[in-house]
This record gives sequence, C-alpha cells and structure tokens, in this order.
Amino acid sequence: MNINHLVVNSSIAQGLDVIGDRWSLLILRDAFLGRQRFEEFRRHTGASRATLSRRLNALVAEGVLQKHAYGEGSSRFEYRLSEKGRALFPVSLLAWQWELEWGGAAYRDALPYTLLHTHCGQPMHPVAVCGHCHEPITLGSMALPTVARDTEQQIAAIKSLSGQRRVRVSQSTGEEDLAMAGISDLIGDRWTLLILICAFFGTRRYDGFLKQLGIASNILTDRLNLLSAVNVFERKSYQTNPPRYEYQLSKKGLSLYPIIIALRQWAVDWRPQGEVLALTHKPCGQALKIDVQCGSCEMLAKQQDVQFAASSPAAQETEGELPA
Ligand SMILES: [Zn+2]
Ligand SMILES: [Zn+2]
Repeated sequence: MNINHLVVNSSIAQGLDVIGDRWSLLILRDAFLGRQRFEEFRRHTGASRATLSRRLNALVAEGVLQKHAYGEGSSRFEYRLSEKGRALFPVSLLAWQWELEWGGAAYRDALPYTLLHTHCGQPMHPVAVCGHCHEPITLGSMALPTVARDTEQQIAAIKSLSGQRRVRVSQSTGEEDLAMAGISDLIGDRWTLLILICAFFGTRRYDGFLKQLGIASNILTDRLNLLSAVNVFERKSYQTNPPRYEYQLSKKGLSLYPIIIALRQWAVDWRPQGEVLALTHKPCGQALKIDVQCGSCEMLAKQQDVQFAASSPAAQETEGELPA
C-alpha cells in the first residue's frame, strides 16, 4: 500500500486549507444559521475581532463567502454564502453531527442546538450515502484508484501546509482541553489527518506510520497520544517485552471517514487542481458521488429543510453563545 493511493491529489488537504480550523467551521455554522453580519459572527463564535476579520477575509478570498455593503453610504458589510460556500453544507452537517455525537459532554453542552429535519419532523441524523445506490459510505466500501502516483509530491503537498496551523497536542493541558478537542482540531492538523488516512487504509503500528509518512518520531508519538486520549484510536498491546501497541480505529475514529470523504469531494468539485482520480463505490461500481441524507426519512438533506432547535433549557438561556 502506498500513501499516493490514499491522498489522491491532495484534495483533502485543499479542502482543509479552507475550512480545517476551528473558527472557519464555526463561521460556516453561523452562516448556515443565516447570520451575515460581523457582530453576529463575533457574538456567536466568540472569536476576537482580529481573528474573525482574518478568517472572514480568507473565506471571502476563497469565494466561500461574498461581501456585500449594506445601508446607504455605509462601510458595513454582510457576508453571504456563495454557491461554493453553500456546497459545504453536507460537510458542515456531518461535522456538526460528529461533534454532537462524539465531542464529549463538555462540548455537547456548549452546542446550543440540535438539528431538526422539517421535511419529516424528526431529529436530523445526517448519513453520508452513495449518490447512485444510496448505500452508506463506509470504510471498506470504497475502491481506490490503481494508477501509480508521484508519492513524494503527494506527501509534500500536505506536509507543506502542516506548519501553518497550530493545534492542541499537549497532554498537560488537562481533561477539559481534551474534551474540547473538536473535529477541526483533529482533522485541521496535517499530521493528524495523514495518520488518520493511513489508519483508514490499514496501518496499525508505530513503525508502519513512521515508514509510510516519514514523520519525526516525537511528532508521531504526540499525535498518536492525542488520538488515543480522545478515543479516536484504541491502543492494544501486541507485545510485552519490549511493550508495543497497535492503534485501532474506534467507532468514533471510523465515523470521521465519511466527513473526510465529503470534504474531499467538495475540494474536487470546487477547487479542481490537476488530474483527479475517481474513487469507486464498490457496492454499485460507480464513481463516488456522495450525498448526505436524513437518517429518518432518507431524503436528501437540503439546507432549507434543516432547522436548528435549542437542545435544552440551559442552552436556550445562552442562545447561540459558544465558549471562546
Ligand atoms: Zn454506490
Ligand atoms: Zn427526515
């Protein structure tokens, strides 16, 4: 197995370059809730003015948001989702569901909403399915392209971005910090992402990750510890002298797979760069087209049919507020 088969033109890295950080995910969430003004974003994301300004400008430059002046002679602007931005709805939906399901009690309580599918009136549990046969997208249902790729180029594309984003990896920050390790902290870090991708394709052991990724051993140890601490990996001993462990994806870890695949598809559709190899959905043999549907009624999850309802009285009191 080669890393070149896994990364596939670094589409995932391109997608993460746009939304793979905590603030961008929160801004997108607010945009999908209909928020458009700077002060609304600031209040609901808890971002500082400088950070918010920077992230909004980056999303405008990327074409995900469009900036419109409002009011006569005003220097104020609204930020509206473009078509490219709206195309991120399935990814946002899956990412949010993952936070609700796996983010831990501290994180869950901080999220003021649950999702409601107005089409069927049921709570919205988004499920990623194949757009052709409607079977769920799972690890093992995807066939990889077999064409040989330039391995080093592929790895370099992701590595070149890895220094740009700081991510929480320290074990000394305590339980509370780890409980807040949301999805962007996991997939917004290039090394963590690469380790996850290797794990999706069968790598289990320290030496395997080391060999596949050419990663520094201290970084690898950090990331494996983090992923184990947040229960994305289950650490299993396979040798006692000297002690050696395998890192197996937990149910929580496996549930990241559809999100990463959905993000990859968005990047392929909206940020095309160079040749892209199609992934094939094995059950139907068609090129992958991912759809996100409601788990209750199996209709396609459209933005206009998904509402956000306050999840608890406590949450209602602090409507929309997330901790900084
Ligand atoms: Zn299919
Ligand atoms: Zn439904």
